[in-house]
Amino acid sequence: MADRKSSSSGAVSSRLTVKRKDRAENEVKKEENPPKEGENAENTPVENGENTEKPEPMELPPFEIISGDRMDPFFFKFQFKNVEYSSGRNKTFLCYLVDQGPGASGLLRGFIEDEHVSGHAEEAFFQQVLPNYDPALKYTVTWYMSSSPCSACAMKLAEILKARKSLHLSIYSARLFEWEEPEIQAGLKALAAAGCKLRMMKPLDFTYTWDTFVENDEQTFMPWEDCQENYEYYQDKLADILQ
Ligand SMILES: [Zn+2]
Repeated sequence: MADRKSSSSGAVSSRLTVKRKDRAENEVKKEENPPKEGENAENTPVENGENTEKPEPMELPPFEIISGDRMDPFFFKFQFKNVEYSSGRNKTFLCYLVDQGPGASGLLRGFIEDEHVSGHAEEAFFQQVLPNYDPALKYTVTWYMSSSPCSACAMKLAEILKARKSLHLSIYSARLFEWEEPEIQAGLKALAAAGCKLRMMKPLDFTYTWDTFVENDEQTFMPWEDCQENYEYYQDKLADILQ
């Protein structure tokens, strides 16, 4: 937990968390082991003995959401890697930029991370970052996500976009989440039909995300070897879905 806390200064997270429950995704595929820090985060003992809840999945709070200004570079390199199989990556990282136009108080920038098994980052964004909507403002919202939305989130986002006509959302994803599933495809189509711009992250987007949302210590980001190839792979899949 220390790693995660220090990785996101000013982090807001639920302190009610008890030991994490079963990790369906983790247990299904193990071709690629998650990094040590990721594992540490999962096995952290309850802090300070403050929390006496039993580690029952049903008692978990609905959200385990962490948000902050810039993320740990280690998490970025693991979570955003656009590999075809996302084993061990059972979180979603959502980096956001919000421009509310002239008259509004500047640009909002930050990141949110979640666990697929609890609340999702997309929903948390509209609860924590942009809970209110003023139809007089023009919102330009850009997300750089480690993986594309699940079907439930896509449907919720489509509803939000229909209700908030002056909010324009662009989602750039490193990977497509379970893109072979018909309901996922339906969700992405609904999202696109609601006006959301969807595309995969290009190597330049990874560099931009590194520069903008990561504690980069002014290091230059070097995209991994197959970054462009993987982008093209996913972009083809996405184009097939949205055609
Ligand atoms: Zn979701």
